[in-house]
Amino acid sequence: MSKFVHLHIHSEFSLLDGANRIKDLPVRAKELGMDAIAITDHGVMYGAIDFYKACKKEGIKPIIGCEVYVAPRSRFDKEPNIDNKYYHLILLAKNNEGYKNLSKLVSLGFVDGYYYKPRIDLEILEKYSEGLICLSACLAGAVNQALLNGENEKAEEIALWHKNVFKDDYYIEIQNNGIQEQVLANQKLIRLARKLDIPIVATNDAHYLKREDAYNHEVLLCIQTGKRMSDIDRMKFDTDELYVKSPEEMTEYFSAFPDAIENTVKIAEKCNVEFEFGHTILPNYDVPEEYATHYDFFKKLCDDGIKNRYGENPSKEILDRAEYEISVIKKMGYVDYFLIVWDFIHYAKTHNIPVGPRTWFWCRFNYCICN
Ligand SMILES: [Zn+2]
Ligand SMILES: [Zn+2]
Repeated sequence: MSKFVHLHIHSEFSLLDGANRIKDLPVRAKELGMDAIAITDHGVMYGAIDFYKACKKEGIKPIIGCEVYVAPRSRFDKEPNIDNKYYHLILLAKNNEGYKNLSKLVSLGFVDGYYYKPRIDLEILEKYSEGLICLSACLAGAVNQALLNGENEKAEEIALWHKNVFKDDYYIEIQNNGIQEQVLANQKLIRLARKLDIPIVATNDAHYLKREDAYNHEVLLCIQTGKRMSDIDRMKFDTDELYVKSPEEMTEYFSAFPDAIENTVKIAEKCNVEFEFGHTILPNYDVPEEYATHYDFFKKLCDDGIKNRYGENPSKEILDRAEYEISVIKKMGYVDYFLIVWDFIHYAKTHNIPVGPRTWFWCRFNYCICN
């Protein structure tokens, strides 16, 4: 393993904020002599699979993560001027269970917690913490914010809560990003970490690949915020250092804190998510007990559907056609797919929820099993 690994990186899937192309990241990591690299987009995991494949192609170890948004109160609270002040937090999947938990958290962030951003809260963070490594994130992290506000006790409380939940997998994150406030924050963060016996870890919150890409990133931010480069009051990062730095640059900057560098490698070694491709993963549909197989239940629904539309004695043409289509669905392994689609459409129809365009050829031939 190389001597430093980037654990906080934004790709193009941090929409209009990340200027790193997925495919360029593992290539650059390799060029710089690193053998692992993480993806931690803002609130989403859209890039995880592409990133995983791109890394494998280059012989680089992919670390799948996310920089989630944490609601200041519950994820259900959505009050102006209070609940739009969310915090950042880095989560990295250690294993496939961690990946599932992270996916769950990100989904709940959208389903329950969406308010300006997809937000999780401490309740579900604790519930789905298994298999995850947690880093305290950038200046927008909760610990950072408390420290910057001079609320040291509150910062300690927040850090201890995370330590209690994530145990040895909680790290205080210090960054080498050229932002003035960060220099001050780093000192406070290290002091807090030493006091509470929490390990520290160095990151660079990379939003673009090389220093010279900082300009492109600024343009991207202008598009996001609807501003022009000539606007004085636009949102911008006062730095051109949010790039994928070399292990040497990171090590030199944090030379007084070698543990922060060493811990990046330890974390990378702990992260071992493996994706399997090539087979369909469907949720299981529980068929009623009296049916021996999923196919039996599916066949019963089809038979009922045909009777509903064509009466007790459908013509031979209809029966032949139905038999042929049912056999194709069975042969192609789509029985469960149809049961799942039937399940949610059936639920909608029996709960007064309008159903949109019907799916596939079943419905075109007017003996849809959905009814
Ligand atoms: Zn952040
Ligand atoms: Zn970040």
